[in-house]
Amino acid sequence: MPHGPLFAHFSSSLAHDTGPGHPERADRITALAAALTEHSAFGYELRESPLASDAQLTAVHPPEYVAAIEALCAAGGGAIDADTVVSARSGEAARHAAGGVVALVDALLATDGPPAGASLHRPPGHHAERGRAMGFCLFNSVAVGAQWALDHHGLERVLVLDTDVHHGNGTNAIFRAEPRVLFVSAHQFPFYPGTGAASDVGSGAGRGTTVNVPVPGGSGDETFCSVVEHLVLPLARAWRPQLLLVSAGFDAHRDDPLAGCAVTDAGYATMAGSLRRLADELGVGLGFVLEGGYELGALTRGVQATLEAVASGAGGAPELAPHPLAVEALERSRALLG
Ligand SMILES: [Zn+2]
Repeated sequence: MPHGPLFAHFSSSLAHDTGPGHPERADRITALAAALTEHSAFGYELRESPLASDAQLTAVHPPEYVAAIEALCAAGGGAIDADTVVSARSGEAARHAAGGVVALVDALLATDGPPAGASLHRPPGHHAERGRAMGFCLFNSVAVGAQWALDHHGLERVLVLDTDVHHGNGTNAIFRAEPRVLFVSAHQFPFYPGTGAASDVGSGAGRGTTVNVPVPGGSGDETFCSVVEHLVLPLARAWRPQLLLVSAGFDAHRDDPLAGCAVTDAGYATMAGSLRRLADELGVGLGFVLEGGYELGALTRGVQATLEAVASGAGGAPELAPHPLAVEALERSRALLG
């Protein structure tokens, strides 16, 4: 029996052309696909991602925004901002990226569904706001999946953890006032995109369901693993999410050229092990959604470490010393969530 599904659509992910010298490049998927082939998908079942439907995308993004992205692609592509570039097939790639998360959510929420799985595509999604592409991202795939879980499956509580080194400003903004999505992000700060201060705790009915943990450059396993073990786990035990989604970027790795954090391969395994323990304890599905990660070795080893730790069903860092940033964020969140 495979451990769970891995949704991917390599041909469209490879056809999203960001131009020469761009860090968010097709080689990322070439490297991942090679590792998956070499290691029999790490014991998971590789499945082809569908295209997200208009209805699935427009539950998050305005229809005119989706149309504008696709019109730009149809015209041959171009630059949306200094970082964010589309080519003729980028819209298709981004639709498969979002569709992969929707399919992953459906799989995890099916009766007798698998305990865990992943969606592995480019472009990434977590910087995309409702009506704005940025930071290499066009459609916010993890947000589309979380919204689908609320709307289609009727869930009342979805946890989205963002471990990419950059703040997931898009996901944060999309769910800012949504009390049914608990968004937790640990990210290098101050750093791109500039959002994600600890004081941003959501607003309106969603006040308290946004938890930002800005961490200084140089932060490594002792910080990121503690955020998962000593913040996400106790928060989730109290809040009782019905689904765990992870915006899994691998650019907090010490080898990543875009950022200045110092997470190791073992750190990614530890975070994944903690999350698998949590998912088992709560009896809910655990889905990883690929975001960033720009050093090909660190990216593929991070994905491998994550998937293998999840499959092993054990792990985490119960013995790790609680990091002061995790402790502070937990106290702040508990006061707000009640
Ligand atoms: Zn990133």
